Amino acid sequence: MTTKTWLKGNLHTHTTNSDGDESPEHVAEWYHEQGYDWLCLSDHNHLTILEGTDAEKAKWPLLVAGEEVTSRNADGPVHINGYGVEHVVEASDSTDIVTAMRENVEAIIAAGGMASINHPNFRWAFDDGAMMQVEGYKFMEVFNGHPETHNAGGGGKASTDGIWDRLLTNGRRVWGIAVDDSHHYTGEFNANRSNPGRGWVQVKAAKLAQQDIYEAMSDGDFYASTGVTIGDMVSTQREIKIDIDPETTPSDGIQAKYTTLFTGSGGRLLHESTSNSPSYRPTRLDDYVRATIYSSRGTRAWTQPVFIDK
Ligand SMILES: [Zn+2]
Ligand SMILES: [Zn+2]
Repeated sequence: MTTKTWLKGNLHTHTTNSDGDESPEHVAEWYHEQGYDWLCLSDHNHLTILEGTDAEKAKWPLLVAGEEVTSRNADGPVHINGYGVEHVVEASDSTDIVTAMRENVEAIIAAGGMASINHPNFRWAFDDGAMMQVEGYKFMEVFNGHPETHNAGGGGKASTDGIWDRLLTNGRRVWGIAVDDSHHYTGEFNANRSNPGRGWVQVKAAKLAQQDIYEAMSDGDFYASTGVTIGDMVSTQREIKIDIDPETTPSDGIQAKYTTLFTGSGGRLLHESTSNSPSYRPTRLDDYVRATIYSSRGTRAWTQPVFIDK
């Protein structure tokens, strides 16, 4: 049996090939130095592929192909990431948000890629109402690190978690990803700038190769995080069991504490645990179950939903 390990990657990154402030080479080096195993350079309407010597590649994470297919004429920003696209995808110029979403998703799939709906709450462009009218995408951003993306919702607008739950409750099988959407690699790092290192996914794969990473993502064999680390995880219809790898504050050596919420249809709470090894056994009454782990340091992790057969 092949052993699979967690491989850390960021799926949403900009460089000087679109509106990022550093070269693809510099950006790749930043992520490598921070311990990322792989990285998707997802420039707006540009497929950034880095060719390098072996010496250069040794300073980069594994680079996997992607593009942020960006429709600028729609009534709100429609940005759809295409993962594994084999050629550059031209963005829809429709003014209608749903039409632009549909055309971009279809074009990504036709180019051999998988589609992810980015930052629904960016400029309050759309929510699950529009997303339910679009077929074929596999992912949505449950966390985006850009300061303008309003992940938490409010004022009658659903959070990204809430949008995800509504899609799942309505029978959609969509995986949730956390991403940086990084643009700013120089100057000061602060909450109002679009800096790297805020959201990532850990993919369970046998090999550090684009095909293995994208297959695991397609299968939902990964979790999303803004800082919480999972050691081991069982995720089946019979049992969901998570071993949290507790984080220790470097300055005082004190361990963080965790609360895990297992939620299901309608976002309803099924079980709450304060253990570092939370678990839940789904019942036939559950349609789907997913877990969110909250750290006392303010960070989170999201496991992918398990769908329960009836
Ligand atoms: Zn975007
Ligand atoms: Zn972006």
